[in-house]
Amino acid sequence: MNPLPSTPSCPLCQGPASQPVDQLSRPELESLWRVVGHCFTEDAWGAIAKDSLVVRRRCDACGYQFFDPALAGNEAFYRQLEHAEYFAPDRPEFVRSLDMACRRGLRRVMDVGCGSGLFLDLARQAGLETFGLELNPAAAEKARAKGHQVLDRMLHELRPDQALGSLDLITFFQVLEHVPDPVAVLRQAADLLKPGGVISAAVPSAEGFYRLTPWDPHQWPPHHVSLWRLADFAQLGRASGLRLIESGGDRLYGTDIERGGKLHNRLAASIGRPRRPGGEWLPQLAGMVYRKSGMKLIFPHWGVSIYAYFEKP
Ligand SMILES: [Zn+2]
Repeated sequence: MNPLPSTPSCPLCQGPASQPVDQLSRPELESLWRVVGHCFTEDAWGAIAKDSLVVRRRCDACGYQFFDPALAGNEAFYRQLEHAEYFAPDRPEFVRSLDMACRRGLRRVMDVGCGSGLFLDLARQAGLETFGLELNPAAAEKARAKGHQVLDRMLHELRPDQALGSLDLITFFQVLEHVPDPVAVLRQAADLLKPGGVISAAVPSAEGFYRLTPWDPHQWPPHHVSLWRLADFAQLGRASGLRLIESGGDRLYGTDIERGGKLHNRLAASIGRPRRPGGEWLPQLAGMVYRKSGMKLIFPHWGVSIYAYFEKP
């Protein structure tokens, strides 16, 4: 008899037991990516073989949802994805983090995965000294050309005594859902912080907008390897030896409901899964009713992202 395939332990709490929640085959993932306009070569699929089933699991102990960390995207995948910067410069986590930095008197900030420096531009305008980490050479060069100090290195390659000196604030905007071991990443970041320094993280919310689009391939490996709830930040803080000082969620907007509802039906149709009734018109109507009725004030944490601040003791 063949042994059962080994299942990964929970990346957040190390609990050994988890249950499968959902799964997609490699051909289904390929179909879904085609709907959103991408086609990847074999090397970009990495550990996801042609006959693989990609399984989303939920930890029995802490409830965190994750995929096998070995499926995280490789360099070829991200090069082909070329998702330059789809983030608007006024993302809520940017402004919110800078408000927090000003309140707490944080001066030296490093943005991990800084891209061309959209957040660092705002941070400098707010009077902060700006550093970034960025592995994409073109993006890093753009940020440097604007005067930010950008290194093309991984976090674990930095040492506290290196050029950066110790930092007051390290930001991870839409990063942790891509990494195989978020606890290790936060510990590495904490090593670079002064005592009292803060880590600001924002991740897509598994409890809000993305529930409308469970087949969005961006939420599956090789792109994302975990799904995040507000409750997961508490476990992340405990496991990383950091103090969770604040967490919350973005607002859900009517335009999100409309966009998510329409996208879901296109994605579901491509893999033969159930569509929601109403095709294009119902998401449009739902979005309009939501907008006009002021319901965005009632569902404050159901938007695209959730965020948390962690303090180094
Ligand atoms: Zn767990």
